[in-house]
Amino acid sequence: MREGSLEAPTRHPLDWKSPAFWDQAKAEKELERIFDICHGCRRCVSLCTTFPTLFDLVDESPTLEVDGVKKEDYWKVVDQCYLCDLCYMTKCPYVPPHPWNVDFPHVMLRAKAIKFKRGSRFRDRLLTSTDALGKLAAIPVVAQSVNLVNQNSAARTVLQNVLGVHKDRELPPYAPRKFRSAAKKSGAFAVRDGTNTPGKVAIFATCYVNYNEPGMGHDLIASLEHNEIPHVLVEKEACCGMPKLELGDLDGVDALKGKNIPVLARYAREGYAILAAIPSCALMYKQELPLLYPDDADTAAVRDAMFDPFEYFVLRKKDGLLKTDFKQPLGKVSYHIPCHARVQNMGQKTRELLESIPGTEVTTVERCAGHDGTWGVKTEYYENSMKIGRPVFRMMAEPGPAYVSSDCPVAARHIRQGMGETSAIKAHPLSLLRRAYGI
Ligand code: SF4
Ligand code: SF4
Repeated sequence: MREGSLEAPTRHPLDWKSPAFWDQAKAEKELERIFDICHGCRRCVSLCTTFPTLFDLVDESPTLEVDGVKKEDYWKVVDQCYLCDLCYMTKCPYVPPHPWNVDFPHVMLRAKAIKFKRGSRFRDRLLTSTDALGKLAAIPVVAQSVNLVNQNSAARTVLQNVLGVHKDRELPPYAPRKFRSAAKKSGAFAVRDGTNTPGKVAIFATCYVNYNEPGMGHDLIASLEHNEIPHVLVEKEACCGMPKLELGDLDGVDALKGKNIPVLARYAREGYAILAAIPSCALMYKQELPLLYPDDADTAAVRDAMFDPFEYFVLRKKDGLLKTDFKQPLGKVSYHIPCHARVQNMGQKTRELLESIPGTEVTTVERCAGHDGTWGVKTEYYENSMKIGRPVFRMMAEPGPAYVSSDCPVAARHIRQGMGETSAIKAHPLSLLRRAYGI
């Protein structure tokens, strides 16, 4: 057997409908098998706190091997994983087609799913109900109250004690007006299909853009308009399901898939490019749902029509259909590429486009910032999330940037918090693009 695989990694679908998937003894056996390979490898030790937790357990066990670790301690390892997929995508030489068939994130997901079925915390169910939370907070008076609570230290202590949301975590505010109700209608532009890009766009707003940072969505629309690309908002949408997936709530994912996929598949079949500005949401449609529903034609159609916005713009440029009449230099930009953009396997499209703006110097930081969707918000993981992010905070601050930017606005907020005192402005790449166009 060869040491490490030279072939491109392949991902096997998750067999979550089979009874064996939910069998705890079988899952623990698979965890033990993979933990044993990891113990003999240890390449991923610096990626997150999952692997150090595992290796500490092994090193403190009576046998100094995985067989000396108590099965109930396996869950301590599982709890540390926030399913960023980086170990699979960037480090592991034993992923399929290698016969050892190591898919560390998938075995973590299986364990999380089994744990979720056994019972979950109210806090976790609440935090992952992004759509319901957003709808509630979108009521103007409620939005103001939530924002006030977020800024009040006594209220945050109560929130920490009752809900387990760390009091020092800077939370995104709720916007007074939802993106979907304020989004500008498209101009009457002709559809110009390119070799690499459909000439019309359907925007999947995402919960975060809709309720928390609608400005990003308006900036996306401004650049589409500037490039005379006709666009529509997806007629109706629910959360993509990524927060539920990360919790192991596969029934919750299934329910959301049932709401979104039939609607999105219609746009895909009508020849739209579907754009989602949050990398985790785009990844959900490009990779996670296709792995959960490998035989579903609608899911496959949506996967093939889904684009990250910068992936779309760079391909549009390749088609000779993107304007490059940039008017404003951006100066120094510290740009962080989030894990969920990296694992889309599309290359660094945001960096590529920002670097093409005259008078713009981009420093790219390609390292996990350690927040994830809701993981870094929770009291028990907050300190670890700040620890994982520390090298990123330092590298982002080093150039003395005018702007701090990440495709993931949650990571950007976390990075800006970790950087402490700085004059750098936090701005999403879509906002920077709009600024560069001078529109
Ligand atoms: S998926 Fe991410 S968080 Fe989980 S073990 Fe791999 S690198 Fe760590
Ligand atoms: S996931 Fe792969 S690369 Fe990482 S420690 Fe385990 S075997 Fe090694």
